[in-house]
Amino acid sequence: MYYLLPFRFERFEDSELLVNEVGDYLFCPQGTAARIVNREISKDEELYHDLLANFFISPTPIPPTIDILAARLRTKKAFLDSFTALHIFVLTLRCNQNCVYCQATSQQECAHGKDMKLPDLLKAVELMFRSPSEHLTMEFQGGEPSLVPHLIRAAIEKAEALNQTAHKTLTYVLCTNSVHLTDEVLTLCKQFNILISTSLDGPRNLHNSNRGKIDSYEKVVAGIALARQTLGEDKVSALMTTSVPALDYPKEIVDAYRENGFRSIFIRALNPYGLATENNDWEAYTTRFIEFYKQMLDYIIEINKSGELFVEEFTRLILQKILTPFPIGFVDLQSPAGIVNSVVVYNYDGGVYASDESRMLAEAGDYTFRLGNISDTYESLFYGEKAQHFADCWATETIAGCSDCALQSYCGADPVRNYSTQGSMYGHRPTSLLCRKYKAIIEHILSLLKNRNEEVMPIFTQWIKGRNA
Ligand code: SF4
Repeated sequence: MYYLLPFRFERFEDSELLVNEVGDYLFCPQGTAARIVNREISKDEELYHDLLANFFISPTPIPPTIDILAARLRTKKAFLDSFTALHIFVLTLRCNQNCVYCQATSQQECAHGKDMKLPDLLKAVELMFRSPSEHLTMEFQGGEPSLVPHLIRAAIEKAEALNQTAHKTLTYVLCTNSVHLTDEVLTLCKQFNILISTSLDGPRNLHNSNRGKIDSYEKVVAGIALARQTLGEDKVSALMTTSVPALDYPKEIVDAYRENGFRSIFIRALNPYGLATENNDWEAYTTRFIEFYKQMLDYIIEINKSGELFVEEFTRLILQKILTPFPIGFVDLQSPAGIVNSVVVYNYDGGVYASDESRMLAEAGDYTFRLGNISDTYESLFYGEKAQHFADCWATETIAGCSDCALQSYCGADPVRNYSTQGSMYGHRPTSLLCRKYKAIIEHILSLLKNRNEEVMPIFTQWIKGRNA
């Protein structure tokens, strides 16, 4: 006789995948879940001991090791301990590029009334310091925030002054296209140890056609080189956005990153906001993106097998969820969702939004995820009716489809995406393209662990090792 602990399962290739509450997984013969539930697993079977050791079953109604299970669950959800840690400041909507996939509805560089007002900025920094989090990340976004270095400086100087008494750990990140990294901007970055998060879309032709400029590639590459030279190699990272034309070039994009001295890439799908909404076939895009991801990951595995360390960052995040007990601090793969719990956005116009995507919706005239105004109180913004309303559907543990999904421990909830693509924050998993994408990617990684374990495990272990030391 044994007792059941919470676990979920699904048919997986020729076997069955079982995943427990803290993300431990087992591949078993098909029909195993039914045998477990019908109490047919005998103590003589090796499986019995695997299930016992991995918190799938217990010899007593309350497992003797319940405290260990509780501690592991608490660790997985530790991102909730400190509440909102990532504070995004949209300093301007103006930009000096013209990206075809722009999700932020950026405006011409010369546009008026699109910069954040200084009093709003200073008030937003004060709001940030009301967060109970011991670690605060200030991320400067746009538009192109390097166009307003005086606002970056004002925000940081205010934060440093408040931190004289608050004693928090502050991290500064400048999200920039690297085209306008002037002496003034780089001096500021050096003075305050600001990290540069930039973007490179791949080889020259692809990058330039994505940016709507004929000389963007040269400028971005030169900006990245200058930033590295001034600030140090480790202070510059890059993201790529998979535009529709990019789907044909998985290997070329990886090679462009390698040629430009990057040791990693973060594969990011297009999101349906801003100009990217003009992509008119999201179903086809999602199918092609999944194939693109698999091809790119396969190529990256081959690169690593040849002895060159090169990391795909999204895969690494999911591997951390599968193979380690730690939370990953990535707002898109959280439950409860990243909105409000981990991230908040202070917009150039004084609005406070639940996430970056929320303010992008607002640019299209939809203010559903606007928490209020920078002049409102911290309590009304972070604990008010809007935030409480979002909480009804921001946990995978409670929403239909996710609540019994075997991949739940590795995935995350996204009420904003559900709302923007399906018209309801709650969403509908069977028809959700986001669900389809996450499911395909997580299952692909699990399939690699199942079928090519000896080949990929040394590589994947190396990818996650440094992050959890
Ligand atoms: S979004 Fe899809 S893959 Fe993720 S937990 Fe929910 S049902 Fe599972």
